[in-house]
Amino acid sequence: FQSKPVAGRHFLQIPGPTNVPDRVLRAMDNPTMDHRGPDFGKMGKALLEKVRHVFKTEGPVVIYPASGTGAWEAALTNTLSPGDRVLMCETGWFAHLWHEMAGRLGIVTDFVKTDWRRGADVAQIEQRLREDKAHAIKAVCVVHNETSTGCTSRIDEVRKAIDAAGHPALLLVDTISSLGSIDYRHDEWGVDVTVAGSQKGLMLPPGLSFNAISAKALKASETAKLPRSFWDWKPMLAANATGYFPYTPATNLLYGLDAAVDMLMEEGLDNVFARHDRHAEATRRAVRHWGFEIQCEEPRHYSSSLTAVRLPDGQSANALRATILEKFNMSLGNGLGQLNDRVFRIGHLGDFGDLQLIGTLGGVEMGLRAAGVPHKAGGVQAAMDYLAGNA
Ligand code: PLP
Repeated sequence: FQSKPVAGRHFLQIPGPTNVPDRVLRAMDNPTMDHRGPDFGKMGKALLEKVRHVFKTEGPVVIYPASGTGAWEAALTNTLSPGDRVLMCETGWFAHLWHEMAGRLGIVTDFVKTDWRRGADVAQIEQRLREDKAHAIKAVCVVHNETSTGCTSRIDEVRKAIDAAGHPALLLVDTISSLGSIDYRHDEWGVDVTVAGSQKGLMLPPGLSFNAISAKALKASETAKLPRSFWDWKPMLAANATGYFPYTPATNLLYGLDAAVDMLMEEGLDNVFARHDRHAEATRRAVRHWGFEIQCEEPRHYSSSLTAVRLPDGQSANALRATILEKFNMSLGNGLGQLNDRVFRIGHLGDFGDLQLIGTLGGVEMGLRAAGVPHKAGGVQAAMDYLAGNA
C-alpha cells in the first residue's frame, strides 16, 4: 500500500496505532480456530483472566471485535438510561467526540471545560457534584490520556473528588491511549467502567476494544434502559464464563493479545511505565531545546505516551508533517479539532525503545530544517544526553 517504493522501515510515530512487535505478529499468524470448539474455550478462559492484570482489576473484562469508539458506546449504553445526566470533561478532541456520542444516545451532559492544555479540572468536578444535591448526575466520564493534547488526567484525584463530594455517580474512564503505557489502576481508583483499545499500549493492530466492569457498574446495567444489543454485557459475560463469545470473536487478534499481555507482564508493568516516562521526558527536552512549546502546560499532567508540540504562529504543523513523511518516511500525529495545523504529535507509546526515540526525534529535527521552520539545532543531542544520564 505504499504510494512509492522507499527503502528502510516506515516510522509509525503517530500516537496509535503503534508498531506491532514481531512476537505479536507471529502469534497472530496462526490458523484461525473454531471459536465454538474445545481449544477456543481453554484459550478464551485463560486470556480473559490474564488480561485483567493489565487493568489492575479482579473483575470482568469484556472484549469486543471493535475499535475504541465501540467500547465508549458499550460503557454508556450498559450503565445509563435515556435522559440520564452525566458529567464529562472537555480535555480535548476525544473527550469532545465521547460527549457528542452521549448526546446522540439521548444522555444529558454537563461539560466541564478546559483550554485543552491540561487534564480534567478536578476542583470543578467536585464542585459540580457537591451542587448536585439530588444526585441527578449518574456518571462522571473522563479521558485518562487525551490523545489530542498529550495531557493525562489524574484519575486518582477524580476519585477523591467524587468521594469528597459524597456523590454516588459512576466513574467511566477512557484509557485508550494510556492502558499499558501509563500507570492505571481500575480497582484501586474505584473506576466503574474502563474503556480501552488494542492499537496503542497493547501493541496490537486496531480491532479490539475493552470494558473492565466494576460490581457497581454491573448492578447499574441491570436497570439501565438505553437500547443495546451488540454491546450488551449480559450475553457477553454469560458466554465468557466458559471462555466463549456470543458472536464470532476476532480470533487472531486474541492470539496477538495473549502474546502482548505476556510481553507486558514479562517486562513488568512498572518497568513499562518507567520506560515511557523516560522517553516522554527525553522528548520534552528535545522539544524545549528546539525552542517550541509543549501543548500540555501542567507538568503534573504531562503524558508519557505522546507529546503534542506547538509550532510558532505562522508555521504549519501539517506542512512539517508532510515534509517529514516525504523525506524521511515517518508518520507523526496531526493536530485535531482546534489544534489542526497548530500542533504535531509525537507518539512514544507501545513497543518502543531508545534508538527508535532517537530515530524519531532525528526525523523531526531534520524535518524542521528541511521545512525551513526556525529552531535551535541540537534537540536530539539534548534527548541523548538525558537518556545516557538516566539509563
Ligand atoms: N479515545 C481516545 C483517547 C483515543 O485516542 C481514541 C483514538 O485514537 C479514541 C477514543 C477512539 O478510538 P477508535 O479510533 O479506536 O475508535
